[in-house]
Amino acid sequence: MTAQTKRILSLNAFEGGTNLPADVAALVARRRNTFGAGSVLFYDEPLHIVKAEGCHIYTADGRKYLDLYNNVPSVGHCHPGVVAAVSAQLAAFNTHTRYLYDNIHDYAERLLASFPPALSNIVFTCTGSESNDFALRLARLATGKDGFVVTRTAYHGNTTAVTDVSPSSSRSGKLAPHVRIVEAPGSAAYGADIGAGFAAAVQAAIADLEAAGIGFAGLLVDTIFSSDGVFADPPGFLAPAVAAAHRAGGLFIADEVQPGFGRTGGGLWGFARHGLVPDVVTMGKPMGNGYPLAGVVTRPDLLQALCDEYGYFNTFGGSPAAAAAGLAVLDAIEGEGLIENVAKVGGHLKERLAALRGNAAGIGEVRGAGLYLGLDIVGEDGTSPDGAGASRMINALRAKGVLIGAAGPFGHTLKIRPPLCLGLDEADYFVDALSAICRGA
Ligand code: PMP
Repeated sequence: MTAQTKRILSLNAFEGGTNLPADVAALVARRRNTFGAGSVLFYDEPLHIVKAEGCHIYTADGRKYLDLYNNVPSVGHCHPGVVAAVSAQLAAFNTHTRYLYDNIHDYAERLLASFPPALSNIVFTCTGSESNDFALRLARLATGKDGFVVTRTAYHGNTTAVTDVSPSSSRSGKLAPHVRIVEAPGSAAYGADIGAGFAAAVQAAIADLEAAGIGFAGLLVDTIFSSDGVFADPPGFLAPAVAAAHRAGGLFIADEVQPGFGRTGGGLWGFARHGLVPDVVTMGKPMGNGYPLAGVVTRPDLLQALCDEYGYFNTFGGSPAAAAAGLAVLDAIEGEGLIENVAKVGGHLKERLAALRGNAAGIGEVRGAGLYLGLDIVGEDGTSPDGAGASRMINALRAKGVLIGAAGPFGHTLKIRPPLCLGLDEADYFVDALSAICRGA
C-alpha cells in the first residue's frame, strides 16, 4: 500500500453494511437518498446518537460510549456554561457582524492576550477551512508568491484553495503545481535529529518551488501533525524549519485547529511547544465547543495588505452568539483547570500506553502531548504499519463502549483526542479495554 492510498475520509468510514439495527438502517437510507455520494459516516455500524454529556455519548439503543475522538465539544459535551451562555445570547439578540456589540470585544481582547504581542489582530470566521483559506491569501499577498509547503498527510480543510494544500484529501495523490510535500516530522523519516532533517526537507521544497518559477509564500503545518499520525517531540523541533521559511521570505502559518485551546497540556497553543512566533495562526473546532466559531490571528501589517485589496466580511463569523460560546469555553478552560487536567490525565494515559508496547500484540509507538496522542497499531515485527488492524481495533473498542479514530498515511495510528475534562478513571477504562482486545478478550 502506498502512503497515498488512504484518503482521510476513508479512515474508519462506514462502507455500507448489512444486519444494521432497524433505526440505523432507516437513517442511513434517508441520508443516502438526500446526501448522495457526499454522505460520510464513521464505523462499520454508524452510531445513532440521542444524548451526550461530559466525555460520554449515548445512543438510541441505550448504550453509553466513552468519547475519545472529539475535539469539538472540547470542554465537554453539552457543557452547561456554554449551553447557558449561547442560549441567553440567542434569547437576547443575534445578528450578522456589522453592528457593535460588547461581547465580541471582551472575547477578542481576552483571546489575543494569550498570543505573542506581535499577533495583535483577529479575524473571525466560522470554520477552520475558512481560516486557512484566509491565511493562504494573507501569505500570497504578503509575498507576491504562490507556493506552499505542507506535510504528506496534511489536512487543512475543504475549500478549493485549502484542498490544494491538503494532500490527505486526494485519492489519486495528484498535487497542485504550487504545492510541495515534505514527510511528517518523525524519526522514521528524519532519524535522530528531527529538527534538522525536517528543516532540510522544507528548504529543499522551497528551492524546488523557486526553481519552478512559482516562488514560496508559506509553510503551513498543523502544529501537532494530527492527520500525519501525531508528532509532538522533541519540543522545539519545528523551529529550524520555520527559520528556513523565514529566511526564504515566506510566512509560517500555524494551524491550531487541532492542538489549540489547551489540548497539548502546556498552555493554549501548540506552536508554543516549539518556542515559535508564527506570522499567522488559524483556529477552529474547539473554539466554540460545537458552536461554529473559528478565526485567524495575525500581525496588523499582514491584515492591512489583504484588506487594502479585498476587505473581509463574514456574515456569521464572530456573531454575538459565537462570542458567547467562545467566552464560555475560555471560562471553562480557566475555571475548571482543564489545561492542568490535560497534562495530568494525558501524562498518565501516555505512560500506560507506552507500557503496552512489547507486552500487547499489535501495539507500537505512542506519540503526542497532553490529550492528543497517536498510538501505532503494528504487525508482528513490531513496527510495520497495520491499517487493517487499526480498523479492527477501532470497531472492537466501539463494541466495548469506547469511540476512537485513525490517522496517518496508512490509517494505522489510533488518534486519541477526548474532551479535555477526561478523568483518570476514564483513561484507565480505555487502556483496560485496549489491553483486553489485544489479549483476545
Ligand atoms: N485544519 C485542521 C488541522 C483540521 O483538522 C481541520 C478539520 N478536521 C481543518 C483545518 C478544517 O476545519 P473545518 O472542518 O472546521 O473547516
